[in-house]
Amino acid sequence: MIARIRNMRPVAVGVLLGTLLGIGGCETNPYTGRQQLLMTSVAEEMQMGAQAYSQVKSDPKMRQSQDPREIEPVKRVAARIVEAAKRSKYGDMAQQFQWEVTVIKDDKTLNAFALPGGKMAVYTGIFSVAKTEAGLAAVMGHEVVHALARHGAERMSQGQLTNAALQVAGAAAGASGGGGLMSQAAMAALGVGAQVGVLLPFSRKHESEADYIGILLAADAGYDPRESVGLWERMAQLSGGGGPAEFMSTHPGHETRIEQLKQWMPEAMAIYQTRQPVPAALLPVAP
Ligand SMILES: [Zn+2]
Repeated sequence: MIARIRNMRPVAVGVLLGTLLGIGGCETNPYTGRQQLLMTSVAEEMQMGAQAYSQVKSDPKMRQSQDPREIEPVKRVAARIVEAAKRSKYGDMAQQFQWEVTVIKDDKTLNAFALPGGKMAVYTGIFSVAKTEAGLAAVMGHEVVHALARHGAERMSQGQLTNAALQVAGAAAGASGGGGLMSQAAMAALGVGAQVGVLLPFSRKHESEADYIGILLAADAGYDPRESVGLWERMAQLSGGGGPAEFMSTHPGHETRIEQLKQWMPEAMAIYQTRQPVPAALLPVAP
């Protein structure tokens, strides 16, 4: 890592200095071996995730679905993915998280996210692309890895958004309560992208990590990991057609992604074949 310092941007060097001073830390991804510089603790990230989630849920534009046909499949898939996460190399963190999932009634928005701490949201718009619960498992596996692999925290550290967001989250969690809103840029860095103007895309490294570990989680949860290929192909088609695909604007590089998924598939299939397969029920799609 030292050899790379010369090529690092000033921000990254700042992060590195912070690390040397004991402010942040260097973590290694347990699946890919990638080194990450992080300015925050998991506990702080969970606090920020909770704050971002409460802001999403209190936004009057975010209508929560009341329809069991929309809520039940999401809850089923989420529960299985979370159980797989608890058995994974992220088991310790997954046990700590206070998992929760909300279905946002918005048929026009193709989005889903999972925040540090385990707060998740699925927009009903993604049903039309996910098609089945197995497709949804591919989406949720991917999003859950962004949270467990601490991608949001890493991205925040790079964008120097951490301190202000921590102050807001800390004040909200404290006894006094209240105290401002987390900035939209900080929310976006954590993964809440759809309703904000500023999109800070996850890097290709983060996306690849989420794809790779995500299909392992989906397979372990009993969902056919091959569904992920169809999912991303449908996403790519929408992107070509200029559709309302906000989910994709944070997920670049479709052809590379599909090629990589195919390379990783044997490993995911080896896991899937040891599991009791879960039926891939169709999701409800708005007419
Ligand atoms: Zn992603």
